[in-house]
Amino acid sequence: MTSVFPYPALTRLVLGPPGAVRHGVKRLLIALPAYLFGIAILFAAVDMGRIQVGPALVMAAYAVVGWSGFYLLLRGGFTAQRQEVTLAFPQVLFTLGAFGLCYALIEPSRGLALQWMSLIVVYDMRRLSARQVQVATFGSMGLLIAALLISRHFNLAPVDLETEAINLAAAAMTMPALIIITSIGRRLHHLRQAQRAALHEALAQLNALAIRDGLTQLFNRRHMLALLEEEDRRQKRTGQPFCIALLDLDFFKCINDEHGHPVGDTVLREFSMLAQATWEDGAVMARWGGEEFLVLFCDATPTLALQALDRLRDALAKHAWSAHAQGLAVTFSAGVCEHTAGTDLTQTLERADAALYRAKAQGRNRAIAS
Ligand code: GH3
Ligand code: MG
Ligand code: MG
Repeated sequence: MTSVFPYPALTRLVLGPPGAVRHGVKRLLIALPAYLFGIAILFAAVDMGRIQVGPALVMAAYAVVGWSGFYLLLRGGFTAQRQEVTLAFPQVLFTLGAFGLCYALIEPSRGLALQWMSLIVVYDMRRLSARQVQVATFGSMGLLIAALLISRHFNLAPVDLETEAINLAAAAMTMPALIIITSIGRRLHHLRQAQRAALHEALAQLNALAIRDGLTQLFNRRHMLALLEEEDRRQKRTGQPFCIALLDLDFFKCINDEHGHPVGDTVLREFSMLAQATWEDGAVMARWGGEEFLVLFCDATPTLALQALDRLRDALAKHAWSAHAQGLAVTFSAGVCEHTAGTDLTQTLERADAALYRAKAQGRNRAIAS
């Protein structure tokens, strides 16, 4: 349920700002029709001459004052700092109190009081702790006995003690069932919450896996294409060009052949880490395929992109590759292209590829802008 009212301003006025407090106000509002209906039944019974107007007025006053009090407390934000923001347990006790009062004042309501009280506890079982359910359940029983004795003592309503004792004893049988049902309900609720959290985590992991390359942990080609399209849309909106660079490791086949495939894998991983460290947040890099990488330089000119690639070249030259294999050295060639207005992404990628081809043809270990 996102909005109870059609107008956002009215929703905010009645329910308060989004969050735990609003959740509490919504729950209270849901209970409002039940209170109004209960009051309507009482006055219908008064009208039919089944009960006196005095007890009906007391009940109505109890409901109106109590409900309004909870609304003011919740909507006013007075409970926002409490551990239990929605006042679930006090509300349950208040409703149980209403049935206790009804029981004392209105004789025809007696047969149903404890059953109704049980229903209240079941309705709120997810919000109550095991201890609170016990207090509410045994408290209901105690409240009814007290209400009965007070009613009899002050002669508030006719009381047939024997009939009521049998009624209460029969109704008390529901108490163990109530405690068991609520504990099962609570356990199922916790289980469902844990399952939902596990599912969310698994989905987040799956999403992370779906956009990453397994070996280098860089973004994969599919995700980079999505990023490029996003950047293309931004470029069309703002007119701000961006740069891409296609990188290809030089003579990588020889590295595999001379030092073995595992060393080749290590080179790919360490090359990725060095590159990421070189441009930090200034660029996004993806594994484009095999030993090819695509770098997206947002808000950068080709000159700046070439400078960044030079820094990577220096970092590669200084890196201790010989720790993995004697005589191992790693270089790359790159083609840089600016994506400007009026060109489409495919063209820009083709031009970067052509520039890379030229860099290879001119002797490798260099970057060329198209
Ligand atoms: P050039 O300088 O012209 O780019 O030469 P090159 O040897 O780098 O290019 P070539 O396309 O001939 O070889 C690329 C090699 O990269 C071949 C392939 O086995 C290797 N390769 C692709 N993916 C992986 C990988 O995940 N791990 C390893 N170890 N090697 C890979
Ligand atoms: Mg290649
Ligand atoms: Mg290569």
